[in-house]
Amino acid sequence: MPTPVTPTVRIIGRPHLDRDELNRYLTEVGAQGWASQRTHFNDAQDVVEVAGRTCYRSWAPRLNPNVTRVRNDSDEYLGNIVAHRHGSVMEHAQYTFILQDVSRVFTHEWVRHRQGVAISQESLRYVRLVDLPFWFPEWAQNDAELVRRGHDVLTALEEFQEWMADHFQLDAPGVSFHEKKAKTSFMRRFAPEGLATVLVWSANIRTIRHVIETRTDEGAEEEVRLVANQIGELMAIETPALFDDYVITDGGAWTTQHRKV
Ligand SMILES: Cc1cc2nc3c(=O)[nH]c(=O)nc-3n(C[C@H](O)[C@H](O)[C@H](O)COP(=O)(O)OP(=O)(O)OC[C@H]3O[C@@H](n4cnc5c(N)ncnc54)[C@H](O)[C@@H]3O)c2cc1C
Repeated sequence: MPTPVTPTVRIIGRPHLDRDELNRYLTEVGAQGWASQRTHFNDAQDVVEVAGRTCYRSWAPRLNPNVTRVRNDSDEYLGNIVAHRHGSVMEHAQYTFILQDVSRVFTHEWVRHRQGVAISQESLRYVRLVDLPFWFPEWAQNDAELVRRGHDVLTALEEFQEWMADHFQLDAPGVSFHEKKAKTSFMRRFAPEGLATVLVWSANIRTIRHVIETRTDEGAEEEVRLVANQIGELMAIETPALFDDYVITDGGAWTTQHRKV
């Protein structure tokens, strides 16, 4: 029987600022006041803010003689970054996600986003399939005949995987890893595209915003929308000042006036 699964997103990596080094730098350039005024800390937002303020030396008025006023409030500062599409400074903050139990339908589409990402995907050339975990969306779960027939197909495919492993004697003593890999790669061709697998995905905040906007769109694929929405919800908690411009439509699309910063 196929194991029922649901695609799940976890953040396993986020930016870390070395505040001692940053403070040394700020002191050297006469900007220590910026750090001492801070009341709350958020490393991802702060690294974006530091990058932005470095561009114009806008830590305090008149550090750059051309700058007579600065925004002191960080949220306001970052909101302005978003509004002015100064997206390049967001590239300094990178997050790493584990996208667990996502299908190959999902990964095919997800890896089309090339800019600002790093991707590691479970290799089904190396990892031999034993069972075929599978996601049935809620509407499909409510269709008893669909579920029964789907399970029958998946169970037959699982049995065929086991039969092939036995037939090729992959667990016999002395079978080389090269041989296992070759046969495992052949065997995966009989797995469905809906097979749940895993992807480690790292992306910077500029990219995350673009992908959420594109992939929660009402025209996007169902599972892709589900995962993109989970990432959006996590990021809205992680870096609220960089995601609070979004309005989520009744249909679940993340929309903003500042698309593709
Ligand atoms: C609803 C939907 C349906 C889709 N249907 C299909 C389909 O039928 N067939 C298909 O093949 N694909 C399809 N796609 C995938 C789509 O064509 C893109 O490949 C994918 O969304 C990646 O987005 P991106 O081009 O913005 O790339 P990203 O890598 O996310 O790039 C971000 C941005 O950087 C810039 N950029 C990236 N690379 C370059 C470059 N080489 N040169 C210049 N600028 C660059 C662009 O401004 C780009 O938007 C679909 C996507 C969606 C959302």
